[in-house]
Amino acid sequence: MSGSGQGGVAFVGCSTVGAVQAQTVRRAVTVGGRRVKTIDVHAHCGVPAAMALMGLKLPTEALLMSSPAARLRAMDEQGIDVEALSINPYWYGAEHDLARELIRFQNEALAEACAAHPERFVAFASVALQHPDLAAQQLEDGMRRYGLRGAAIGGSVEGADLSDPRFHPFWAKAESLGALVFIHPQGTAELERTTRLKGNGLLTNTIGNPLETTIALSHLIFDGTLDRFPGLKICAAHGGGYLPSYGARSDAILTTFPDRCPGKLEKKPTEYLRQLYYDSIVFTPEALRHLAAEVGPDRIVMGTDYPYPWTSTSVDHILGTPGLSDADRAAMLGETAATLLGIKR
Ligand SMILES: [Zn+2]
Repeated sequence: MSGSGQGGVAFVGCSTVGAVQAQTVRRAVTVGGRRVKTIDVHAHCGVPAAMALMGLKLPTEALLMSSPAARLRAMDEQGIDVEALSINPYWYGAEHDLARELIRFQNEALAEACAAHPERFVAFASVALQHPDLAAQQLEDGMRRYGLRGAAIGGSVEGADLSDPRFHPFWAKAESLGALVFIHPQGTAELERTTRLKGNGLLTNTIGNPLETTIALSHLIFDGTLDRFPGLKICAAHGGGYLPSYGARSDAILTTFPDRCPGKLEKKPTEYLRQLYYDSIVFTPEALRHLAAEVGPDRIVMGTDYPYPWTSTSVDHILGTPGLSDADRAAMLGETAATLLGIKR
């Protein structure tokens, strides 16, 4: 039964196993002797009844929020106090009325899931970005009516890049609301229509996802979207894909082929990178150190990709990366996300 979870983990499930599992000790994360509220900005969930409107099924039961005992247990074990839930868009092909209904239903369900465990979950609103004026309204409704904390969007919309002027109403609304917009890629659709990403290695995801994010951020920079909406708060999944690893090339193009960059940018591309946010899903201490060096430690927020088992050690990754100060670690573990998402520390 959903909506009966006010008592928290101990009241979820009625089996003996459930009761025993509920005893999992919640790991309390400290930095320099100080307790830090840890926040995972990259945690997936799903609403089956909304997916059914598009003829789709939930890919894994682990995405369900109606019985979050296993999710809460994983959070407790890993030392994650709060998850910011998001749903990867599957509705960008839906016509206007269907998209409106689907999103309304889904955002209500997200709000319910958060209300059942208000100390453990917040959520990003879903928006129908293929209908930008509707998406702007859905973002405002999501935040004002449902208490959601920004929006989760894909890296492109049915082949259109996020810098397309038709999305300006959405960006304008996100900027005016101070909303955090979480960009999560869904592969690189244009390449998936060829054989280039087929074969071993799940390349559609392994490199297709970070490539999609790299393209998305590059357009937002080079097409002037970030100049037009300088107050935007954007968080890119998977450490921003490949862009922060090779950002200087984007600066170099301005002097190498200036005639191919006719639109005047207000800053160098790498300076825009330092005004965005990134999750910490980059796997090694060296990668996290490098990301922090490129974008600033205050621009990194913790992510897990739950329930997909990319990592179960996000907290230790941040705690164990050399060269960070206690303030840097506390910021990455939760303080920056708390500010962005309006979570009480
Ligand atoms: Zn993900």
